[in-house]
Amino acid sequence: MSLTQADILRALEKVKLPDGASLAASGRMTGIVINDGKVICAITIEAAEAGAMEPVRATAEAAIRALPGVRQALVGLTADKAPSQRPAAPAGAPQARATSKAAALPGVKHIIAVASGKGGVGKSTTSCNLALGLAALGLKVGILDADIYGPSQPRLLGLRGKPRLVGPRMLEPMERYGIKVMSIGFLVEEDAAMIWRGPMVISAITQMLREVAWGELDVLVVDMPPGTGDAQLTMAQQTPLAGAVIVSTPQDLALIDARRGIAMFQKVDVPILGVIENMSSFCCPNCGHISPIFGHGGARAEATKMNVPFLGEIPLDMQIRETSDEGRPIVATEPDSPHAQIYKAIASSVWAALSGGAASRAAPRIVIE
Ligand code: ADP
Repeated sequence: MSLTQADILRALEKVKLPDGASLAASGRMTGIVINDGKVICAITIEAAEAGAMEPVRATAEAAIRALPGVRQALVGLTADKAPSQRPAAPAGAPQARATSKAAALPGVKHIIAVASGKGGVGKSTTSCNLALGLAALGLKVGILDADIYGPSQPRLLGLRGKPRLVGPRMLEPMERYGIKVMSIGFLVEEDAAMIWRGPMVISAITQMLREVAWGELDVLVVDMPPGTGDAQLTMAQQTPLAGAVIVSTPQDLALIDARRGIAMFQKVDVPILGVIENMSSFCCPNCGHISPIFGHGGARAEATKMNVPFLGEIPLDMQIRETSDEGRPIVATEPDSPHAQIYKAIASSVWAALSGGAASRAAPRIVIE
């Protein structure tokens, strides 16, 4: 007989909250997804409860795992509350640095988000080639594909298979072209991920951050879910980000979303490392004529207007599309091509900002009430 949500809740009846109430009856369980013996769900908490609720999370996970038919159980804690709803810390109060989740990433020096205000602008292609560009500088690099709505790093990097378990809860990242890779696409069917709601997304992503044996990394690149909704905002807030890179195409409509993306990170005090204009212009492979299909220069102008760095322009080019779709990203497979040079130059600027410049803060200054 297949598992149901009722079975999960029944298993959680015996799990008690710190005040003695039953977790199942508390209304805190959210986003229960059951897929082929894998159960993923989240417990809604206030950010300040994170420490006290960790044992509850662990007990809940053990209770679910003990159910017949469960092969894997992942329970996350989610503080799914917009920061504007939180009371401000009193003036002069110490600013807490990140949550316990941040502490759970030892060895990872800088985590950066690659984000876009909307889908389809080339965020994943750019994340992938940026990560490879950073690796080409001799850095130890990982990429976390957090684009739950369309995990594409496995395809972009030509990776198949499942990550190995290297402990009761730790997954080993896959490796390709010298970088470590974890994607929600390795763990669940794409359509299962599609139905997740905000808290589920956050829970799954924070688990991918914390429960992957990343080892020593100079930079972990997070390919964020597109958009600026609650899930993205909470993620930006709960991940110890050293900075964010915004990818946009040049046309006005995309730039409106890019502006929202910049504002979202600024709201949670994550430094903007810069804006990249993707699909900046098209060079005809036959006659060499350059056409600004989506306009040109809009992202640079927007960056200037918003007083954030502009990192570079990547043309709309068949070779970038083909190498991406074939799992042979251009920076890895044609490292001396002009397009790979552009990605590498952007990677150098990002690294310069991370290692010394404006974005050298290793953790966001999240105020926890
Ligand atoms: P997003 O992550 O923003 O949804 P993707 O990176 O998946 O976007 O890119 C969407 C499509 O556009 C893919 O087919 C990809 O190969 C293509 N693409 C992205 N950037 C470029 C580029 N600079 N030139 C040509 N094709 C590109």
